[in-house]
Amino acid sequence: MINAYTVIGQPIAHSLSPMIHSLFGELTQRRITYTRTEGTDASFEGIVKQWHDRGGKGCNVTAPFKEQAVQVCSHLARSADRAGSVNTIHMRRDGELVGHSTDGAGMMHDIERNIRFPVRGRRVLILGAGGAARGVVGPLLDARPSALHIANRTVSRADAILQYFADDPAAGVPMSASSYEALSEQAPFDLVINATSLSLAGSLPTLPDGLMTPQALAYDMMYSREATVFMRWAHDQGATVSDGFGMLVEQAAEAFLVWEGVRPKTRMAWPRLLELLNAH
Ligand code: NDP
Repeated sequence: MINAYTVIGQPIAHSLSPMIHSLFGELTQRRITYTRTEGTDASFEGIVKQWHDRGGKGCNVTAPFKEQAVQVCSHLARSADRAGSVNTIHMRRDGELVGHSTDGAGMMHDIERNIRFPVRGRRVLILGAGGAARGVVGPLLDARPSALHIANRTVSRADAILQYFADDPAAGVPMSASSYEALSEQAPFDLVINATSLSLAGSLPTLPDGLMTPQALAYDMMYSREATVFMRWAHDQGATVSDGFGMLVEQAAEAFLVWEGVRPKTRMAWPRLLELLNAH
């Protein structure tokens, strides 16, 4: 039997997910198909239900439907409940549509296992307080940093994330929020994660010198062939830098695990994935 998957988003033409999952299918010797589906706010729910009715085994959900996807699911895994969004829907044989959020686990796998930067005991800063930021807070707290600070242009959105996690079982970690302007009072940080959408526009918030410790890791959730503005700034500040390509690959591996019960050995796929990204 061939298991059918799709990724739903808007726009979706440039999604790398079909390429990544096809490679995972080869690596794990699973017979799968994986397509792209363009959605709209009005059509999203119908697309998911039709995919299920036609025997689809699951779908990925990307911008701008990750929050809307929560309503479509009949059950949420803890990852999705904490993130307040769904990027992976598992269409089970018993008819349940189970929502998962694999972005946070994917980012943590990339940071802690691929880059080998343990988060435990480190001071962590997240820039941005949108869906991507909220999605990684739970898995970051589970890794037990010594502090977690969220800076955002709209400080009330960062405060809302703090409030949401105030009762979380991992909430022993001191958390705080501020504007970018107030960041120098909180510095320095060992890990700075850029979860703003500014890299897409080739921009970054105004950040103070001395924001990072000398051994810091600066991680941009965005990925592209060239280093982002944030990565170039952080490199000039002396930090180790990474883009979010590893997060993309690892969140896909977590989704594949949900659907197929096996986690692809992503390190084996890395050279081919980079080749395909560069040819894209
Ligand atoms: P959202 O639209 O939910 O949030 C955008 C964030 O950027 C907010 O914090 C917003 O601040 C901030 N922002 C936008 N414009 C400006 C500006 N002009 N000045 C200052 N701040 C600004 O986006 P997401 O959270 O969904 O995505 C954020 C990034 O993460 C994207 O680049 C996306 O590609 C990436 N991502 C990568 C993944 C991967 O697998 N590698 C997975 C998921 C996301 P404010 O609240 O003040 O508006």
